[in-house]
Amino acid sequence: MDSKDLINLTEHYSANNYAPLDVVISSGNGVWVEDVEGRRYLDFLSSYSALNFGHRNPRITRAAHRQLDTLTLTSRAFYSDVGAHLCKELSELCKKDKVLLMNSGAEAVETAIKAARKWGYEVKGVPEGKAEIIVFDGNFHGRTTTIISFSGSPLSKKGFGPFTPGFVTVPFGDAAAVEAAITPNTVAISVEPILGEGGVIIPPDGFLKALREMCTKHNVLMIADEIQTGLGRTGKVFACEHEGVDPDMYILAKSLGGGIVPISMVAANTPIMKVFEPGTHGSTFGGNPFACGIAREVLALIREERPQDNSAELGAYALERLRSMKSKVIKEVRGRGLMIGIDVDPAAGTAKDFCKKLLHEGLLCKDTRVQTIRVAPPLTITKAELDKGLDLFEKVLGTKESFSISAFLKNPLKALTKAL
Ligand SMILES: *Cc1c(COP(=O)(O)O)cnc(C)c1O
Repeated sequence: MDSKDLINLTEHYSANNYAPLDVVISSGNGVWVEDVEGRRYLDFLSSYSALNFGHRNPRITRAAHRQLDTLTLTSRAFYSDVGAHLCKELSELCKKDKVLLMNSGAEAVETAIKAARKWGYEVKGVPEGKAEIIVFDGNFHGRTTTIISFSGSPLSKKGFGPFTPGFVTVPFGDAAAVEAAITPNTVAISVEPILGEGGVIIPPDGFLKALREMCTKHNVLMIADEIQTGLGRTGKVFACEHEGVDPDMYILAKSLGGGIVPISMVAANTPIMKVFEPGTHGSTFGGNPFACGIAREVLALIREERPQDNSAELGAYALERLRSMKSKVIKEVRGRGLMIGIDVDPAAGTAKDFCKKLLHEGLLCKDTRVQTIRVAPPLTITKAELDKGLDLFEKVLGTKESFSISAFLKNPLKALTKAL
């Protein structure tokens, strides 16, 4: 079957809850993927950062094979050796007393919401059923019925009500609005340090710090959803580190599973985590040994190979190259580490239009919001691979230079390709 057949097959039998680009991937290696016709593409989406360490990262794949041949599932009715080690290592990474393991990102967000509410009633003394959680315009925290109740995207909500109450939405980056929204019943503020799905929006400097101070002052929990920003994406292990902020709860998912399995976690100190007693929360596959074995290798890789440093260095380089690109299309470039958003001029087309052109040139990326292209290659990318990708951005978004004799004499091939 060729790509066209497989797309038709998918469209026939799969629910249409996504609108993929017309490429059918059949293998992947590092930053590269190949389609069923054998065409190669640079993957600059990295599965929304779930592939932070590339496709089939050899270290992680080896660990997965090892675990697959040893133990894959126990349920939480029993303990497991890898589960014990992973909890310790995650707790050390997050500098929190305890962690709770789940599977998807949305489940971890649900876990944090439940923890914050129960903490509110049992520790802070909020009247039962009255807990409020402050969230932000443009947020994305997942797709469960409760989470979409406060989603920043109208499309995620329409037709799915009635919604879960108890959430108050304020503008992202507006510390004064947050302070004004805090009441005696506020139990938590849930924040993405950088809005990911919301368009790669970086808050004003000092915003996270202001949230931290407010939370401390009003006895409110600061929940950092680092599902997309975490584990090196922004050039540090946690994006909160850019402002030296220590939230009360961390949420991780996506790349914790090494691009192989879903695994997510919430980390918090004992006064919060103790609200979970046996029987109050869980998931059959939560903390399964197969996923734990993989996540342990992810953490080892972060400690030993420090992909976060590569992200910081190459991210700064990519930002600079994109910003200095001669283009009539690019309106703004923003980013931190290898988490970059490019706003394109609506007069020239939508971000999706340009993603289709980039696909045609051999580069995969995805629009987030109508006018923003998200650039998020694996953090393990080399400079040469990044340059290859940026050359394609230049080709698609850049203004072609006219033919110049002096450039031709200096580098004939380059001058010709530029002018063509
Ligand atoms: C992807 C994402 C989620 C949801 O994770 P799933 O594994 O898709 O449920 C939550 N929060 C943020 C910031 C995300 O980027």
